[in-house]
Amino acid sequence: MTTSSAEPSVSLPLVELSPDEEYTPMSLGLLVIQPSPFCNINCDYCYLPDRTDKRRMEFEVLDTIMNRVFGSGLVQHPFTILWHAGEPLAVPLQWYEKAFEIINSYPGAKENIQHSFQSNGTLINDKWCEFIKKHNVEIGLSIDGPAHIHDFHRKTRKGEGTHAKAMRGLGFLKKHGIKFGVVSVVSNEALGHADEIYDFYRAHEISGVGLNIEEVEGANTASSLEVQQAEEKIRRFLKQMYLRNKAEGFPIHIREFETARENIVQPEINLHPDGSYANLESEPFSMINVDCFGNFSSFSPELLGQPTEKYTTFNFGNVLSNQIFDATANKVFQHVLSDIENGNKKCADSCEFYSYCGGASPSNKYYENGTFDSSETMHCRSMIQMPMEIVLEDFELDMGLTPDG
Ligand code: SF4
Repeated sequence: MTTSSAEPSVSLPLVELSPDEEYTPMSLGLLVIQPSPFCNINCDYCYLPDRTDKRRMEFEVLDTIMNRVFGSGLVQHPFTILWHAGEPLAVPLQWYEKAFEIINSYPGAKENIQHSFQSNGTLINDKWCEFIKKHNVEIGLSIDGPAHIHDFHRKTRKGEGTHAKAMRGLGFLKKHGIKFGVVSVVSNEALGHADEIYDFYRAHEISGVGLNIEEVEGANTASSLEVQQAEEKIRRFLKQMYLRNKAEGFPIHIREFETARENIVQPEINLHPDGSYANLESEPFSMINVDCFGNFSSFSPELLGQPTEKYTTFNFGNVLSNQIFDATANKVFQHVLSDIENGNKKCADSCEFYSYCGGASPSNKYYENGTFDSSETMHCRSMIQMPMEIVLEDFELDMGLTPDG
């Protein structure tokens, strides 16, 4: 994720500001809105709690979110609204028609907001496709590869596979000429099948892929990747994906390798003007995450609504009674921010990749290490360090810079 804004670097004095004081705000990059916690399927690696809860956001809450966000001064550039649930398309289309009307009533909203859905694909039909096209919504599908890999984890509540329905959704998108990306969770069942998964992407003309190594996070308290030599297997999987893509002329934009390549050849894309890496997950209010009741959080979206003993809560306020910057006076927010910043200092002091990731994802640090005030995780080794190493090795090979070269 990139920002082009000139946000001041985040520092603790921010928390001493009262909401009324004059203050140069940061810039919002991503607003995550959860219209409902509900999901129509039941993947066994899902990190979300409450995904059987069918309650839905009231329009008053949505209007107040927009009011708070636009009134905060945080909107300085175009930003993305990610409709994230549960399954965002499990909320009826009519709800979104009204929701988009409300949002578009804010000056500049239509031109400056990119809407985005990450969907399991099972509910997509012609009507959804017409809506997606009309509003130029970005859509990503969650598909783990061929049926036997996908259906291993991505099941209905009755325990049936969901691959066929997800592929039907993909077919609708294609029929309507809608561009889409695919996010695949890489579980233990996927690791030995890099070629098969790559062939699946090619056979279905999938040209944009994000690989998410299965994480220990939220409700997913154990990962199928907690196996012997997992890191070696993950490295082999990633390398094979990269080599296959290279052999075919890089037809697939694989997010992890593209980010690594950008960080090597065009690092400025991901840097703030002061040279620091733009890591939105670590910067307060660069991401604002709001649940269907109006409770809001910041930093990694995965923290929204999660229980936590260490920090007591990750909700920093509720839009119905708080301005966004009220959170800065909240002791929990101050504790979380302080720990995130200290964790990033640990990263800066100990890791050669720091200038390419800015300390990565606070939520992974919390769920793997028990605190934000920490550094390396299996997630960052797999999703940042390994892709960088694979791309760098390849560049060096192409340039003849092998140990013997
Ligand atoms: S790669 Fe991991 S350990 Fe290194 S700086 Fe990033 S988050 Fe920290």
